[in-house]
Formats: sequence, structure tokens, C-alpha cells
Amino acid sequence: ATPTAVMVGTGVGASQGVLIKGGQALESAHKVNCIVFDKTGTLTVGKPVVVNTKLFKNMVLGDFYELVAAAEVNSEHPLAKAIVEYAKKFREDEESPVWPEAQDFVSITGHGVKAIVRNREIIVGNRSLMLDNNIIIPVDAEEMLAETEEMAQTGILISIDREVIGLLAISDPLKPGAREVISILKSMKVRSIMVTGDNYGTANSIAREVGIETVMAETKPEQKAEKVKELQASGYVVAMVGDGINDSPALVAADVGMAIGAGTDIAIEAADIVLMKSNLEDVITAIDLSRKTFSRIR
Ligand code: ADP
Ligand code: MG
Repeated sequence: ATPTAVMVGTGVGASQGVLIKGGQALESAHKVNCIVFDKTGTLTVGKPVVVNTKLFKNMVLGDFYELVAAAEVNSEHPLAKAIVEYAKKFREDEESPVWPEAQDFVSITGHGVKAIVRNREIIVGNRSLMLDNNIIIPVDAEEMLAETEEMAQTGILISIDREVIGLLAISDPLKPGAREVISILKSMKVRSIMVTGDNYGTANSIAREVGIETVMAETKPEQKAEKVKELQASGYVVAMVGDGINDSPALVAADVGMAIGAGTDIAIEAADIVLMKSNLEDVITAIDLSRKTFSRIR
């Protein structure tokens, strides 16, 4: 393509909310034959909400949520925000609640949080966080976790003083049109893969809903990038689509990194293309634009 054609292509992209950072990004996009999608905030809406609570011990729900929120209010994670938001409903001071102070707060990336609240040890997070802390997960909690994951929700366990007291089910639905985008990509001979830090149960259920066959769950940020490199080594030209800090190594590693506009600044900086409208359809817009630009001339 001539420099003019590239300029036109980039301009058309910009007018449609697809920000292409340079000619190289536009050129690479037409060769893409495999796309790695992050789950949370990319394929899903990214605004998780608590949809169910189960207590395994006798405890007043408001007291339970106060302890959990006091720990989670210190975390930036979207799941933590969902939990704190839900916990507000149990309070008189709902508008601007003052939570009890948390001591020794620790955030364990990809697993959850720990803190001491009112002299009690609160641990909030996934299965492996409990196991890493030598906390036994009772059979009824395991069963409920499995049911939650089957429904494509994320189950969060809460232990108080080393005993699993409750489980929260959190739902983060698919973005509208996500399923159609995956199906159109298939017809364009582009393979779709999903990677996520979430557990395999939930990840597989979401993948089934959206129509993706290959799933990598329980991944750390470096593992997302390794997966991209592995696909490249086996001959694919790979695009990565993500929104989070944890996606940025993979966005950099990919032949074309695409960031969701509503995502974190770090992801947007790491990407070659930014989907300003945060629509998944624009993954196709970008590839189409590149295909048109680079098949017009010669
Ligand atoms: P994702 O890639 O889906 O954004 P993360 O790698 O951030 O996932 O987290 C993986 C899992 O760790 C979450 O699905 C959740 O089970 C658990 N987790 C992480 N942070 C928190 C938190 N602040 N509170 C509770 N659970 C958490
Ligand atoms: Mg994400």
C-alpha cells in the first residue's frame, strides 16, 4: 500500500473509533489468523455484580458483609468493588459507609485478599487462596462452587478465623454481540482463544457461551504473553485483545495488541490499536480496514 493509502486507512479507523498507532499496526492486522481474548472486561462487560450469597455458619448477613467489605475496600480489583458495592445494601449509612479498620491488609494478585478486621482474620478469594493458607474447603462449599462455575459465575470463598463461612457468587455477563463476533471471525478464518486469571470452571462456561473452543485459565500475566509467543512459534500471526494491566505483557508480545478503550491506561499504552468504543465488533473493523488497505494496491 502507498503511504497515502495507509494514511487514509488510519484516518477511516479514527473516524470509526479505532485508533491505529502507525502504519505498521495497520499492516500487521491483515495477516492476523489467531486472536487471543482476555475474558474479564474484554469478552464480558467487566462490571461484576454479586448475585448470590451462601453462609455455611450461623451469622447475621450484615455482620458477615461488614467484615468482608472492610477487607475488600482496600483492593482495586473489580471483584472487590462488586463486593463492597453489594455490602453497602446492608447498612444504614449506605451512601457513604464507614467500614471498620483493616490491619495487615495483603492483596495476593490473582487470588484475593487477607486482613485482620475486629481482631478476626478475614481471607477472601478463590479456591487456591484457601488451599495455600491451609484452610479446609467443606464439601458443601465445593459443591456450591461447582454449581456457581457451571452457571458461568465466579465463586468467592470467605474464611473467618481459618474457617470457610460463606461463598459469594459474582456474575459478569458477556458483552452483547460477543458470540456473533467470534462466529464472524471463524468465517474470516481467524481462530479465537480465551485466556483468563479466573478458574477453569467459570472460564469454560463463559467460553461455551461465546463459542470459543480453546481456553487457558488460572493464568498469570507472563503466562498470557507466553501463550502468545507459543502461538507465534507455531506459525500464527497473533492479535491480543485485552483491557487490564495483567494483559499488557501479552499486548506487547502480540503481532497486533488491541486494547479496549474503557480499559486501564497501561493496557492502552501497551497496545498498537485502541478500540475507543470498547465494542468487540471493532476487532473486525480493524482487520477489515487492514485487509482493504493492503489488498487495494499491487
Ligand atoms: P481476571 O484475569 O479474570 O481479571 P485475576 O487474575 O485478576 O482475574 O484474578 C483471578 C481470580 O482471583 C479471580 O477470579 C478471583 O477468584 C480471585 N481474586 C483476585 N482478586 C480478588 C479480590 N480482590 N477478591 C476476591 N477474589 C479475588
Ligand atoms: Mg480483563
